[in-house]
Amino acid sequence: MLNQNSQWYKLQYPECFVDEDQKMIQKTVADFVDREIMPVRYKIDEDETHEEIVEPILKKLQVDLGFQKTVIPKDYGGNEALSLVSAALKQEQLARADYGISLASACVDWGLVPATMAYLMFPSVKDWGKAVLDKFAPVFTEDRLHFACFNMSEVRSACDIENHLNDARLIRTKASIQGSEWVIDGTKHWASNSGIADLHCLACNMDPASGIEGFALIYVPEPWPGVSHGKYEVKCGARGDRNTSTYFENARVPEDWGIRGSVAWEIFLNNVVSAFAMNIANCVGMMQGAFDILLQYTGDRVVGGKPVREHLSTAMFLGEMVGAISVGRATFLEMCHQFDHPETYGSWISDSMVAKARASLSYIARVANDLISRGMEFMGAQGFARDGLYEKYYRDIAVAKLVLGGVQLGFFSGCRAYYDLDFSSFGPGKLA
Ligand SMILES: Cc1cc2nc3c(=O)[nH]c(=O)nc-3n(C[C@H](O)[C@H](O)[C@H](O)COP(=O)(O)OP(=O)(O)OC[C@H]3O[C@@H](n4cnc5c(N)ncnc54)[C@H](O)[C@@H]3O)c2cc1C
Repeated sequence: MLNQNSQWYKLQYPECFVDEDQKMIQKTVADFVDREIMPVRYKIDEDETHEEIVEPILKKLQVDLGFQKTVIPKDYGGNEALSLVSAALKQEQLARADYGISLASACVDWGLVPATMAYLMFPSVKDWGKAVLDKFAPVFTEDRLHFACFNMSEVRSACDIENHLNDARLIRTKASIQGSEWVIDGTKHWASNSGIADLHCLACNMDPASGIEGFALIYVPEPWPGVSHGKYEVKCGARGDRNTSTYFENARVPEDWGIRGSVAWEIFLNNVVSAFAMNIANCVGMMQGAFDILLQYTGDRVVGGKPVREHLSTAMFLGEMVGAISVGRATFLEMCHQFDHPETYGSWISDSMVAKARASLSYIARVANDLISRGMEFMGAQGFARDGLYEKYYRDIAVAKLVLGGVQLGFFSGCRAYYDLDFSSFGPGKLA
């Protein structure tokens, strides 16, 4: 149970980053997680259809607690709660129990934010935000579970799409305007909530060779003529999140559901970059979840004449985890605070901001993978038995370091705070 009055809490979540409203959101989610997810977390990955466990949990979280309308503007009956500190505190708590559920919830916001951003912050494309929200905000504010999806990855290298230096030139999902409609053809792959999403925010290009000029961000609802799916991917972890291919064949939507060119690209990049900080929070949540199991098990289990955690080799490891969790938490809180205050810290999509967010995520994701894997050593056979609960974190954390372009792109981006490392797909010796 999250004790917000302890000194440890205050040191972990300092007042300079977390205000009273944010503490309230965090406590609501923490209590929900302890009550609704922790008791069934070991069954989540076996809920093939999502009907028994995953969807009932998401319904309570998204609809009953109201998180489905977090990012919808107040004008449309939403919460307009756009603080990344609040969002990260929520993701940390959810990932403490289940990374897949955390992704499924976060990616509803991720799919809706571009329209909200346009409506509230980009006057030149406010009409786009308005058209999308007029049509779809009522879906997400009603008392039923709905999913959105931020759909950019494709079968041929998602990293090349998420690599911002490629300027959208490798997005092969094609959009064109015919009459007063967008016409979309192509295949997307992997997006969270794909296959169950009621609404896609789709990254397309009208003419890949033209790069950003041809880039288009288009909303497509489902079910919709010309939109279909492959099978759900079977993953080693994070199975509370659905991933599949989405096929677009002559899919047509009204022209005012899409935008193109540099402003579309700017909104797209802003949305991508914000997710790096969210995923650091997810990694910290998974480390905390694994640590809590280790702490308890090694306190109860006696070997060599005393509890496992009283042996110095175990204590050294537990202390190392305390350090990593504290550093990871400080990192996402500071990063999200900086995102929440662009008036002081500058653009979200500058080389510096991307370098810090992306390299920090890569580093924390690697450390979390390493520690969760090593932690198994202290649990004996219970470490890899399903009932021991620990192996779930071992499987879930593996996903965290390959999403969002993976650790390599993260570290490459970090270098760009200091020198112009070129890791694009274009230039001498690369693609034409
Ligand atoms: C659970 C889950 C949720 C996801 N959610 C979403 C989502 O919501 N929306 C969405 O659009 N996508 C989503 N994805 C897709 C995800 O972002 C991609 O799978 C990820 O970016 C890796 O892409 P890829 O598998 O195509 O790897 P590839 O692009 O084939 O890359 C392979 C490897 O090449 C290396 N590499 C990459 N770039 C370079 C470079 N420039 N130079 C040298 N080496 C490089 C890296 O090591 C990388 O691992 C999700 C995936 C998963 C598993």
